[in-house]
Parts: sequence; C-alpha cells; structure tokens
Amino acid sequence: MDSERHRRAAPAPSQADMPKYTDLDKPAQFLKNVGPKRAELLAKLGLLTARDVLYHVPHRYEDASTVTPIKDLETGMDATIVGRVVSKGVLPTRRGLRIFQAVVRDGTGLIECSWPGQPFLDRTIARNDLLLLSGTCRFYHGRQFQPKEFTTLAREGEDASEESGTIFPVYPATEGLTHRQVRTLIAENLDDLLRKAKDEDLLPREIRERAGLVPLAQALDWMHRPTSLKDVEQGRRRLAYEELFFLQLLYAQAHHRAAAERPGIAFPRRDTLVKPFHKSLPFTLTAAQKRVLKEIGEDMGRPRRMNRLLQGDVGSGKTVVALFAMLRAAENGYQAAMMVPTEILAEQHARTLQKLLEGLPVGVTLMTGRLGAKAWREVSYRIASGDADIVVGTHALIQEGVEFHKLGLVVVDEQHRFGVKQRLAIQEMGENADTLVMSATPIPRSLALTLYGDLDISVLDERPPGRQPIKTALRAESARPRVLKFVREQVEQGRQAYIVYPLVEESEKVDLKAATVQFEQLKEVFPDLRLALIHGQMPGEEKDRTMRAVAAGEVDVLVSTTVIEVGIDVPNATVMVIEHAERFGLSQLHQLRGRVGRGSEESFCILLYTGGDAAQRLRIFASTEDGFAIAEADLRLRGAGDLFGARQSGVPAFRFANLEEDLQLLTAARAEARAIVDRDPELANHPDLRDALETRYHERARLFRVG
Ligand code: ADP
Ligand code: MG
Repeated sequence: MDSERHRRAAPAPSQADMPKYTDLDKPAQFLKNVGPKRAELLAKLGLLTARDVLYHVPHRYEDASTVTPIKDLETGMDATIVGRVVSKGVLPTRRGLRIFQAVVRDGTGLIECSWPGQPFLDRTIARNDLLLLSGTCRFYHGRQFQPKEFTTLAREGEDASEESGTIFPVYPATEGLTHRQVRTLIAENLDDLLRKAKDEDLLPREIRERAGLVPLAQALDWMHRPTSLKDVEQGRRRLAYEELFFLQLLYAQAHHRAAAERPGIAFPRRDTLVKPFHKSLPFTLTAAQKRVLKEIGEDMGRPRRMNRLLQGDVGSGKTVVALFAMLRAAENGYQAAMMVPTEILAEQHARTLQKLLEGLPVGVTLMTGRLGAKAWREVSYRIASGDADIVVGTHALIQEGVEFHKLGLVVVDEQHRFGVKQRLAIQEMGENADTLVMSATPIPRSLALTLYGDLDISVLDERPPGRQPIKTALRAESARPRVLKFVREQVEQGRQAYIVYPLVEESEKVDLKAATVQFEQLKEVFPDLRLALIHGQMPGEEKDRTMRAVAAGEVDVLVSTTVIEVGIDVPNATVMVIEHAERFGLSQLHQLRGRVGRGSEESFCILLYTGGDAAQRLRIFASTEDGFAIAEADLRLRGAGDLFGARQSGVPAFRFANLEEDLQLLTAARAEARAIVDRDPELANHPDLRDALETRYHERARLFRVG
C-alpha cells in the first residue's frame, strides 16, 4: 500500500506525539484458526482486531456450579443438569401431540428428557451434544426430566471443556458462527492474547490498587474463564472502572479547559445585600439549601469561572438559592441575568424575585419578546448602562442589541428546553460570567456524572417543611366515570384540574386526533364547565395564551397532550388526571404531578391505567414524592438510554459499566481523574493515558460532546 510506505518513509515523529500501536491492533485474521472467511464473520460481530476479540466477552454465563448429578434427581425437583445426548427421537402420541425426547447421560447416570409439542427440536439437538438443561423432574413411567430451558454447550468433536470449569460462558454470536465456535476460537487464542494484554494495562497501578481492582489481564481472563460468578463480577468491575475513568478524564480536561480559557471573576463575600436578604426571609433555609449555598459561595469567591448545575425537585427552593447567588454578584457591582424558557415563566419569576427583594436596594428588570418597541429600547438601555442589577428574561436576552454593562452571573432555568444554538449563545453571554444551570428534573447521581461530568453539580435533595403531600391514586380505566365525577366536585369547589393524555413521539398525528376526540367527549361530559385544550403542535403564542387563561383562573379543566409548561405555577389547580399512565416513564409522571400541590388546598394526582404489568411500576411512583428516589427506580426499571426517551441522546453506551450499580466506581473514577488533571492538565507526565485517550477514546470523546 502506497500510503503505508509514505507513512513509514516520513520522518519519525517524536515518540511523545505518536500513539502506540501493538500486536493487539493487528487484524483478527492473524489469530489462530481464523482465516479470511472466519475474519469476515468476526467482522459481522464488529470484531476487527485482536483486541476486539479479546474484549468480546460473554453476554451471559451458564452457571453449572449448582448442577445436580443425574443420579440425585428426585421427582418434583427443580434442577439444572449437564449431560451428553445418548439417543433422541420424536414420539407421536395417540392424541396427535408430538413429543421430542432425548436421553442424556452424565458421569452418574441417565435420564430421559421430554419436550411435548416441540418436534422441531429434533433438528436442533444432535447425538453427542453436551447440553445444559434446567427444568423439573417428574414421574412418568419412571423419572423424566422436563426442561424449561436448555443451552448446547458443545457439539461432538468440539472442545468439550466439561471439566474446565463450572461456569460456561455464552458469547454473542452471528449467523454462520455459533456461540460455541466463538468460545472455542477465543479459548484457543486466549493465553496468547492475555500475554499481550499485560503490556497495556492502562490504569496506573496506584489507582487500580486504591480502587481494589485486579490487573487488566486478570480481569479479562476471569471474564472468559471464570471459575465462579464472583470472578466475573470482579473482572467486570475492573473493565467498567477503566471505561468510567477515561470518560471522567475527558470530562476533567474539558472542565479544566473551560476554566483556563477565560479567567473568571472573584466575587468576595461582602454581605451588603446577601446578609440583609437572608435576614428578611420569612423562613429558615433547609440544610440542603445551606450546603448548596456554601458550594456556590466558595465557587464564586474564586477567580475561576463557575460552571455549575443545580438540581432539585420542583419546590425544593432553587429560586431562593439562585437569588442568593445573584445578590452576591450584585453586591460586588456586577449584573446578574436569569434566563427561562417561556414568557410566562419569566413574568412569574420576575414577580417572585421582586417580592422576595422588597425593601432591598436592588431592582428586577423583565426582558421578553412581548415588550413593545419603546419598552424594549428602554430596558436594553438600562441593561447596557448597568442600571439594571438583576434581569429576568427569555431568549430575548441573547438577541442582538442586548448588551450588558458588566455581567457577572448567568442563571439558566431548565436549560434542556433551550436549543443548541441558544445554549451556545448563553455560554457567550458574559465573557467571564459565572453560570448556574438549574434543573427540576431529578436524575440519579450516576447519570448526572455521566451526562454532565464537565460541570460541578449541586443537589437540593430536601424539601422545605410545611408542604402538603399530594394524594396519589391508581385507578383502572373502568373507574374513569368516577374520576371525572371527582374532577367536577373539585371544580365546583372553585378548583382547577388538568387531564393529560400521553403523546407517543412516533405518532403525533394519531395522538393529536385522539386528544381532540377526547376533548370533544369531555365537553359533552362537562357541558357547563370551561374547558381548554393545549397540545404540542400548537403555535407558541396560542399555547402561551391558553396557559395565561389557566393561570388567571379562566379555565376549569385543561386538557393536554403535552407536558404542561414546566415550572408554571397555578396554585389553584388541585387535580391532575393522567390517562394511560402506563405509557409514561416514572420521571415524567413525577414532573406532571409537580404541577399540582402548589397552593394551600389539598391536591390529588390520579393515574388511570390499563394493563397489568404497569401496576407495580406505578405503585412505586404512588408511594413516594421524592423525585430522586423515583428517578433511581426509573433508571433500574428502564435503563439509562430510555430514561429520557429519544430526546436525550447524550447517554453514552457503556460496554461494561452500568449506571444502575456502579455509582461508587464512578465517583472514585471521577475523583482520580480530576486529581490527575489538576496536577497535569495536558497529561504530559502521563503519556500512556494520553495515548489511550487518543487512540481508543477519541471517537467516543466526540460522542460525549466533550474535549
Ligand atoms: P423551585 O424553584 O425549586 O421549584 P422555589 O424556589 O420556587 O422552588 O420554592 C418553592 C416555594 O418554597 C417558594 O414559595 C419559596 O418561597 C418557598 N421556600 C423556599 N425555600 C424555603 C425554605 N427553606 N422554607 C420554607 N419555604 C421555602
Ligand atoms: Mg422554580
């Protein structure tokens, strides 16, 4: 190959600039018993290099460590057995049922295995196959085994490995290459591959030892040839840690760069505004608020740009925390801006802040697209002259023509609802300004560290006292008339209600039609009430108008297909009815429930559902109002990828790590990665790590939107 020769002929770059290639980077075809044809099949599995093959670990294990010797089987016993097929055949019965039978032998005896109604197994199972079978031993003309499941561990002539261990690895396979062939192929090459892997253990030894992990080669050995499932878990942890560590290393570098690129502003404690404000609060701060304020305060005090995520459930008191931060900027002579995704929210926040700041010498300025030309000019002048201390607004704030005099802090509420371009513009708003991003979507810590690893994270995991619990009830579809009657009763007492229909992304049109039909039906049920409909395809203005009417109490029942504006405060709304609740994720349900229970009246959330499977999941939801607990449950039940549906695509696909279980590994990996980057940002003293990032994690770095 020409290009190859050119590369070789070029002056050798210095050792430090060149990623290291090793034997494990060689094409898989160079492995023992792999020819061009096999190599093609391996490629179908995504295995191109020797390393790929080494890392192709079993996707499950047959645990034969609890196998029952055939002679010990007794009637009624559930058991797993391993044995060779001695004879087999299909038996017709008088009633026309065809039964596949096989006699299986191990070192202790023989037993007849029987699969009624599965004559086709005659084509799958052959004589001399080594089978692992789980099922029940019954009595039928003697002992008979009725398998519920079976795996073919080996065929005649294949490396039987009956005595090689009690755990049988089962590999991902493909057409033309069975899992047993994959196993044999890997077994034949494993010692060789492991020897090579010894030279490329990328985790620095001290780190590995501090985390209590085994060397790479040992881990891979255990994954492929475990003697117990404990070995497998030890091996997996080692590989998972490495994955998490490199991701966190990338994040740590991004974190470092963000701070290094632009110096930040130090806002020393002056207490000329913060203290009087604290004194004026009609409540005491929660312990969580105090902790978070300390984190933010320390960050703002340093001459480094703050880039912090503040997570907390609806009602956990984020706004107050943000206001403290804005006052810290203001008392140092800087301006602070708070950006929110909708006009109604901006107006609401401006009012709230104004009320909280009564009596203090700071003003709140509102900036939205609804301002008339004259007002807009006036407001932008006040912003540009530095007259406006605290500005609350929509994306109007990042429009051309809006220049801050001296912006010190940007607070962004519900950032995920802004587009990518807008987010970039927000980043650029104040050259050296600190940013505080607030989110009311609780996400499990492991996921937060994976998605937002380059940010610092503060969590409000406690609610101010005195809130009324929301009563959550689970009802079958058949109870719908009674539920609607309850809605009417509440409306007659002067309250407002929401009725929400799920929107499935693939079929917005169909759903929309369904919602419109439902809306018409509800109008017949409630001919005397004021109903309104809101849905995703409505123009923004119309949505805004409808939400305003709801907030003003001009609508009794709001029917919605879309998530009702996050953060909107309608204290008079006391009922949330969710139709087809089984179609929502728990976290989504939690967001919806947060729309009620904002006033002094008792509030209710009623889930209507069909389908038996859903009940258990929904009961978890009904049992707690703790958004973090719900998010954890959701993560366990649905996995990280599904947690936010198709919308949130930033969740990396880990091969070994799993966010449901590996929080400890993750936090350890993060701490180590940050410590290294703090001392050695460009990894000049860690050439191995730098090489590994470049050669193996580079592609992923782009996917992770870091680096
Ligand atoms: P979030 O923005 O997290 O949804 P808010 O900051 O709007 O929450 O707070 C919800 C309500 O609780 C507000 O009325 C706020 O004034 C009040 N609040 C905040 N912190 C406390 C506290 N420590 N004790 C009592 N009430 C509080
Ligand atoms: Mg809020």
